[in-house]
Amino acid sequence: MSLIPDDVIEQVREAADIVGIIGEHVELKRTGSDFRAPCPFHGGTHRNFAVIPRKGMFYCFVCHAGGDVFTFFMKKLGMDYPTAVREVARRAGITIPERGPTGPDPREPLYGAVAAAADWFARQLRESPEAQVARDYLTTRHLDLETVQPLGLGYAPRSKAFLDAMKGLGVRDEVLLEAGLLARREDGTLAPRFRGRLLFPIHDVRARVVGFGGRILGEGEPKYLNSPDTPIFHKGKLLYNLHVAKHAMRKAERAILVEGYFDVLRLSLAGIEEVVAPLGTGLTPEQAQLVKHHAPHVILLYDSDEPGLRATFRAGDELLREGLRVSVATLPAGEDPDTLGQKKGVAGLEEILKDAVDVLERKIQILDRKGFFGTLPGRRRALDRLLPTIRAAKDPITRELYLSRAAEAAGVRKDVLEREAGMRDAASGMRPSPTAHPASPISHPALPASAEKAVVLLMLEGEPWKSRVAEAVDPEELEFPPYRAVFESVADDAVLALDDTSARAYELLKAEGLGGRDPNEMYERAVNWLEARRLERQMERLDDQLPFETPDRQASLLAEKRRVFDELRKRYPRYKIAKRRRGAPGT
Ligand SMILES: [Zn+2]
Repeated sequence: MSLIPDDVIEQVREAADIVGIIGEHVELKRTGSDFRAPCPFHGGTHRNFAVIPRKGMFYCFVCHAGGDVFTFFMKKLGMDYPTAVREVARRAGITIPERGPTGPDPREPLYGAVAAAADWFARQLRESPEAQVARDYLTTRHLDLETVQPLGLGYAPRSKAFLDAMKGLGVRDEVLLEAGLLARREDGTLAPRFRGRLLFPIHDVRARVVGFGGRILGEGEPKYLNSPDTPIFHKGKLLYNLHVAKHAMRKAERAILVEGYFDVLRLSLAGIEEVVAPLGTGLTPEQAQLVKHHAPHVILLYDSDEPGLRATFRAGDELLREGLRVSVATLPAGEDPDTLGQKKGVAGLEEILKDAVDVLERKIQILDRKGFFGTLPGRRRALDRLLPTIRAAKDPITRELYLSRAAEAAGVRKDVLEREAGMRDAASGMRPSPTAHPASPISHPALPASAEKAVVLLMLEGEPWKSRVAEAVDPEELEFPPYRAVFESVADDAVLALDDTSARAYELLKAEGLGGRDPNEMYERAVNWLEARRLERQMERLDDQLPFETPDRQASLLAEKRRVFDELRKRYPRYKIAKRRRGAPGT
C-alpha cells in the first residue's frame, strides 16, 4: 500500500462512472435519478440495492452495505483502498504516479476501528430495542429510518455493549482509545465515549468515517458531543457532509453553509446537495479554505436571531479572507433550515436562497434598520462595524465595491474610508490598499486585532499599564505566538532577545500604539474577554470529562460546570451569547 495524494484520489472519484462500474456486476435499472438492482452482497432477488450517481454512492436497504465507488471494489473484490483507487483510475484513464518508497499508512487501524464502530452503531439504530428512543426522536423531526439509513446515522446505547461488540470483532482497546471511541476514567476503567446518543458519522474528503457527532437523547449534557481530535479527526479541518456535497458544489458553483447536522440533512433530503456545516464551532480558516477548493460562492443560511447574525458575520469575514463571494440568506424569525424545510419543502428553501444578499449589503440593511445612519455618531459606529468586512475582502474587486458601497451608505468620502481601511491593514500586516504606504520589504507577521493584541499594546505603553497587565494576564493565556513573545519579552525587559519575526511584530505594535483609544476601556474589555475565554475552556474541559464518569461524579462535575457557567454569565454576559451559539449546532 502507498499513500496516493488526496487530490489525485479526488480526480479519480470525479472521473469514475459509478453506474458503469457497478453495472458490470449487477443489472441496474433506472428509477428516477437513481439506479436499482438485486443486491450483489447479500444475493437478494428484489431490487433493494441502489446506486445514487449524484451522491457518488451505493446502498442496500436489506444488508446495509454501502459506500462509494472505491468501497464497492473493496467489498466486492476484496481489494485494499489504494488498489481500489488504482483500479478505478485505470478504467477512467487516469495515471497514478507509481508506488513510492512509503509503507502502509500507520493510521490504517484507526480508520478500520471507526468504520467497524460506525457499522455497529448503525445496526443498533435499526435493530436494538433500546434504540426505540432514537427512532422516536427521528419521527418527531419528521425523518424516517429508511431515509436516514443511507446516511449512516447510528445509535450509541447507554450500556457498555459497545466494548463487548468491539472485543468480539477483535478491535483492540488501545486503538479505540486513540480513535476517541473510548475514554479512560479516573479510576482507570474504560468507558464508551458515546452513550445514549444519536450519532452522525463524520467523513473526511475521501468519504471515510473518521469521527462522530452525537446528540443526546433525553436528559444529559452536553447536548452535542463530538469525537475528540485524533490522528484522523480534526474538528477544525473537516466539514460535515463535504464528501457528498463537493460534487454538487462544483456543479452548482456554490456552497450553502448551515449550522447543524439536522440542517444539512433537511436540505440534502430536499435535493439541495451542496450543503455543509462546521462541526459545532465557528468557521475556521481551514474550513473556509476547504469550501474554496470546491466552490467560488457561499450562501450562509444561519438563524436570523442576534447570535445567529453574529455567527453569520464571523463566518462571512472568514470566507471573504479566502477570496470567496459571500451571500446571506435570511430565514423567517424563529425558523431554522430544518424547520423551514419541513414546513415549506424545497420550494420554500429555494425561495430563501434566491433572495440571499451580499454579506456587506446585509450588514448595511441591519444597521440601517436599527437607525445607525441617522446620526453622526451612529454613522461612525456603523463604519466601525463595516470596516472588518471591508478589510476581510481579499478579492480586489469585491473590496473596491465594498468601499464604494460603505462610503455611500455612511455618507463619507470613499478615499477617506479607503485610507482608514488601508491604514489598519498595514498595521495588521494584511495586504495594504493602493493609497497606503508601500509594503515594507521585510516580511512581517499578520497582527490580527484581538483582546490579545490589546493587552500587548497596553504593555508597550509603559507604566502603569505594564504592571497592571502583567499582574492580570498570564502569558500562557496568549495563543498567538508573536503576541506572546512580545508580551513575555516586555514583561521580562528582554526585548533584545526577540527573534526576527517577533522583533518585527514588536516594532509594528510599538508604531501602532493606542491610536487615541482610552486605555482604561481597552484594559477592561481585553482582560474581561481573556478571563471569559478561560472560563469557557474550563467548561469545555468539564464537558469532555462528563460522559465517562460515574453518576455521582457526573453530578458533582455538573454542579461545577453550573458554577463556572453562572460566573461566566454574570461577569461577561455578552461573551456568553457568542459561546452558546457555538456550542449548540442543529438544535
Ligand atoms: Zn444487500
